[in-house]
Amino acid sequence: MNVISSPSKTADIEQILLKDMYGARRVVLILLDNGRRKAIKENGECFLCIGCGSCIVTCPIYTTIGYEFGYKRHLGGRGVILSSIIEGNKSCFDSGLFTCTLCGLCTVECPMGIKINQFINKLRYK
Ligand code: SF4
Ligand code: SF4
Repeated sequence: MNVISSPSKTADIEQILLKDMYGARRVVLILLDNGRRKAIKENGECFLCIGCGSCIVTCPIYTTIGYEFGYKRHLGGRGVILSSIIEGNKSCFDSGLFTCTLCGLCTVECPMGIKINQFINKLRYK
């Protein structure tokens, strides 16, 4: 999630709104879908992730083998799931699809209630 601001403006001086003072005069927002709507429909819960990292702190696989378990900068079980969405089965396998023990400690810790172990189990039958 990214938070962007509107064009530059300030009311610092006598509470009079002035535009174009310190930054962008114009903000252009271009949204590209790139398959996201389909991914959200199929794996919606995964996109609730806020990247807090609680799931990897308790993960016995991540705490044992580290960066090898996960996908690029998406570490641990959530990385395994994201690799499947972003690159497909081969990448998901390489990220540790069958290394996960399905213990569910990540799911217990996740503040967003993402059932990571259940997703991974589902991916194994894909
Ligand atoms: S279910 Fe898998 S990803 Fe989650 S804590 Fe256990 S080993 Fe780690
Ligand atoms: S605990 Fe949940 S919200 Fe936090 S990084 Fe892991 S999957 Fe994302």
